[in-house]
Amino acid sequence: MLTRLAGGRVIDPANNRDAVGDIYLRDGRIVAAPQGGEADETYDVSGMIVMAGAIDIHSHIAGSNENMGRLLLPEQRYADAPAHPGHSPQPRGAWSSDETGCLYAAMGFTTVVEPAVLPHHALQTHLELADIPIIDKATLTVLGNDDFLLDLLRRRESTEALREYVAWALTTSRGLGIKVINAGGAEAFKQNVRSFSLDDEVPHYGVSSRAIVKALQRAVQDLALPHPLHVHCNNLGLAGNVETAIATIAAAEGLPLHLAHLQFYSYGKEGKRSFSSAAARLAEAVNAAKSVTVDVGQVMFGPTVTISCDVLRQFNARAHARPRKWVIFDGDANGAGIVPYEYRSKDFYNAVQWAAGLELFLLTNDPWRVFFTTDHPNGAPFTSYPDILALLMSRELRAEWIAMMPKEAIEVTTLPAITREYTLPEVATMTRAAPARLFGLKDRGHLGIGALADVAVYAPDRDSAKMFRAAALVFKNGELVVRDGAVLRKTIGRALTASPPGERAIERRMRDYYEGRYGLSPDFLAVPPGAIGQPDPFELVPCRS
Ligand SMILES: [Zn+2]
Repeated sequence: MLTRLAGGRVIDPANNRDAVGDIYLRDGRIVAAPQGGEADETYDVSGMIVMAGAIDIHSHIAGSNENMGRLLLPEQRYADAPAHPGHSPQPRGAWSSDETGCLYAAMGFTTVVEPAVLPHHALQTHLELADIPIIDKATLTVLGNDDFLLDLLRRRESTEALREYVAWALTTSRGLGIKVINAGGAEAFKQNVRSFSLDDEVPHYGVSSRAIVKALQRAVQDLALPHPLHVHCNNLGLAGNVETAIATIAAAEGLPLHLAHLQFYSYGKEGKRSFSSAAARLAEAVNAAKSVTVDVGQVMFGPTVTISCDVLRQFNARAHARPRKWVIFDGDANGAGIVPYEYRSKDFYNAVQWAAGLELFLLTNDPWRVFFTTDHPNGAPFTSYPDILALLMSRELRAEWIAMMPKEAIEVTTLPAITREYTLPEVATMTRAAPARLFGLKDRGHLGIGALADVAVYAPDRDSAKMFRAAALVFKNGELVVRDGAVLRKTIGRALTASPPGERAIERRMRDYYEGRYGLSPDFLAVPPGAIGQPDPFELVPCRS
């Protein structure tokens, strides 16, 4: 069947298109206009905005941490009963898998990356992801605090051994990319270390955090993985940690590196409280480092839950839990911490964090290199995205919010002086075209011929938040799944994975390691397609050529 979306403003930055025109969908793909122009069905979208489905590159939507958050905060789940898509839900920490897919789709998102999967938890995470309807998913495999890797580095083994290990871990866990979280910091935490920077060494292993990041960056580069190494830096949340972020940017040394939720690293020590926004300085460093990409991790106000495999940081943050309960667990490699939190607009520190995130968005010049995230649910639940887009698009709206914040907080930021307003093509770049490029996904993030028919149509409104909260129409693989923010149909998505080709001599060694250490075959780590219970649950994304 041929479907025509007629007469909308088509914003497709990947193909340099921003004009009124038609889009045709057939068999799940975007197709060329037919001779004669006759379609089987036509949607009149004149006056509306047509974009590709949005892609979220960093949102914690499945796995053990998310479940621990659900268990720790049952009152958050039940206090605000399931929100109807299309209607602004109260911020909450963790929805069910089913709600997650519906809430994302209602906003026009069609692909989401779960960014923190420990290899030992991969099967459980993929089972949960498969239960999230409509959207396609992908995961990042977490390495960098695992004994096997640290031991390879301690022994100064070859870059080939390291590369093979990274390829093995990625393939086994069905990830799309590799992430490192406070490299070496979680392992150091187990040795009672409570602060850990880029040039600190992991006790017993004698390896610095920098050396771990550099080794993984090189392996990812050599393997030509679709996504660069995804880094959660050291010293998250601490005053003065802008120095850590700047040092990590410099450590990229001209090679691709992605820094996650940079807002949490944009703090200086200025002002009466020795806490200030250093986002302007950080944005300058990002602007200058062309091989580096970042996502923001914007903070918004309200209750949420922070969930992270940065166990050292979460342990140190436990005193700030709101409500006062938390879980810290040690485990293989990273472990994790779950700390509920409420960001308050009247709180000095929270107001500085809010402003610093917006400064990063607005002062980073290139929308191809700054990505739209709240580090869901750490900075805010993903349902706050429409409100953040509205703030980025309106200087006037920002001024209204600023007027409600503590003056002394705003004084240690540059936000009031920033006049930039994001345009719709910039929004489309940041949330569609750029994420697809960052993950090597050629079939999405754009509306060119042959692309997946993942399309979001929005009805313009003076209130941009309203427009982005409830898409007028959303098509996933050519099927209409959302109308006016209400989910019509729960289709089944797939998980996008990467696997560098070739034989791996390391497999024999991994077998010996797991049998020796755990008395188990490493097969227990595998994520077989048959376990998922859906036809064709995985799709392989080719490595870069
Ligand atoms: Zn995160």
